[in-house]
Amino acid sequence: MNRHDFLIIGSGVAGLSLALKVARHGTVAVVTKRARSDSNTAWAQGGVASVTSTEDSFELHIRDTLVAGAGLCDERAVRAIITDGPAAIRQLTELGVHFDERVLENGHRELDLGREGGHSKRRVLHYRDTTGREIEQCLLNAVEKNPNIQLLENHMAVDLITTGKLGYTTEDRVVGSYVLDETNGEVKALRSDRVILATGGCGKVYLYTTNPSIATGDGVAMAWRAGAAIENMEFIQFHPTCLYHPEARSFLISEAVRGEGARLIDESGREFMGKYHEQKALAPRDVVARAIDAEMKRTGSQCMYLDITQKPPDFIRERFPNIYKSCLALGIDITERPIPVVPAAHYQCGGVKTDLDGATNLRGLFAIGEVACTGLHGANRLASNSLLEAVVLAERCAQALLRPKYAKYHQEVDLPEWRPGNAQDVDELVVIYHNWDEIRRLMWDYVGIVRTNKRLQRASTRLRNLHREIQDFYWGFKLTTELLELRNLCTVASLIVDSALARKESRGLHYTLDFPSTDDERFLRNTILQRY
Ligand SMILES: Cc1cc2nc3c(=O)[nH]c(=O)nc-3n(C[C@H](O)[C@H](O)[C@H](O)COP(=O)(O)OP(=O)(O)OC[C@H]3O[C@@H](n4cnc5c(N)ncnc54)[C@H](O)[C@@H]3O)c2cc1C
Repeated sequence: MNRHDFLIIGSGVAGLSLALKVARHGTVAVVTKRARSDSNTAWAQGGVASVTSTEDSFELHIRDTLVAGAGLCDERAVRAIITDGPAAIRQLTELGVHFDERVLENGHRELDLGREGGHSKRRVLHYRDTTGREIEQCLLNAVEKNPNIQLLENHMAVDLITTGKLGYTTEDRVVGSYVLDETNGEVKALRSDRVILATGGCGKVYLYTTNPSIATGDGVAMAWRAGAAIENMEFIQFHPTCLYHPEARSFLISEAVRGEGARLIDESGREFMGKYHEQKALAPRDVVARAIDAEMKRTGSQCMYLDITQKPPDFIRERFPNIYKSCLALGIDITERPIPVVPAAHYQCGGVKTDLDGATNLRGLFAIGEVACTGLHGANRLASNSLLEAVVLAERCAQALLRPKYAKYHQEVDLPEWRPGNAQDVDELVVIYHNWDEIRRLMWDYVGIVRTNKRLQRASTRLRNLHREIQDFYWGFKLTTELLELRNLCTVASLIVDSALARKESRGLHYTLDFPSTDDERFLRNTILQRY
């Protein structure tokens, strides 16, 4: 049995930031299911929102966040995270993270702040359009030099181990995790009194997503099975314009393209946004996403198109070099023809319910980053607030983990070895891929941007059957990453559907044709699901 003072699951910005902070106080294991840099973090483009300019203020950032959250933000969380922002940015720069600067007319330099939808001021710190990669790389460099941190790649957490599951009748607490070593198929028991989920989001539950393949909602599914409270899973943010191409399912076409005058058109070249909003293609993100979805459903088309060809080719090449080159590599010259786009699942606003230290309702279990729900985002995330939240919560959680309240327990618990029983090798991977595909498709068709009770019920019935089938695989076959991810996807999909069914109103990112208005009297509250 492996013992560690801290067991961190996930190597994105949240997990790595925390590892560096607690490594001064004990041994740390970071398990990560693929290569060390495979994470949503590495894909983040826009940047980190924080108040750094004298023209901006905490109050304005707080107000913008509360407005986006449509009544469900926890104002205490919003205030704490936003006011901790500048210190978090300082910690990143001390680790070597660069943010772009610009030179003023008087020769002085200042941060080159970006402005994004919903922000009343320029406040997004960025490094070109690859901010996430810059942060991930700097954190990894520091982690690799730290002898107290053991980074285990290709190790996938299977489930949390609780004293309840081990048969103890006193307080239930988390005491470790079973982890699949993918290099040899062995399942190890990792023992720790402080287990931190930093597993990111669940974009892969949908057919179209901007998220990389690691985003299968494992942390939420594991926490749910262990008995943790899960909050607000109906609020999934969709990005309106993801490139529609069989070889590039996750490539974002930035909002800035619409900012420069691109029009949204259908297959026959007809502009359609005027029907939906006076600002046309520049309407808020959720409005544009819903409009594209409605046009696709109405016309039966696979995608809509974003047309910037009215701008001079040189301007397009200079202003959007990355988008121009990436599309050209796929045979689409965006100076000559419209870009095929679909909305795509982008960010999970809900997650494992935590306090402002990252503590969950289960002793010994913490959650930080996209997997967690602190109350910052409410019913809709303000752009670029998520990297900020991950860094701030890593600091707050590190401080909390050192308090006597969360110190190691004196009563020792031994973990039983994993018993594979009579499990066979998976004989037909096709069955797993088929179920995986079915979940993603049904979530896209029935639980997407625009919902109805009937569609949600249909999804619920189908997911119940799939759940039974997947449980049979789980107990009958030797564990593989594919099988574990399928099991987690099914659980998370069910949590999204159940949460959406419970909210009989439209608010923020949850929009249902059956209840198109917001109903503060009955639903100005969070949706909480808990197994025990
Ligand atoms: C295309 C794109 C652009 C974005 N742009 C921005 C932006 O500009 N600004 C912003 O604030 N946010 C942005 N976001 C969101 C932001 O990137 C994420 O919310 C944030 O990076 C999440 O960090 P994290 O550490 O919580 O999770 P992640 O970075 O996703 O890391 C999760 C880690 O957990 C590991 N893991 C998962 N399950 C398991 C398991 N069972 N066992 C072991 N390891 C596991 C993964 O392999 C990974 O290492 C963007 C997201 C995407 C996809």
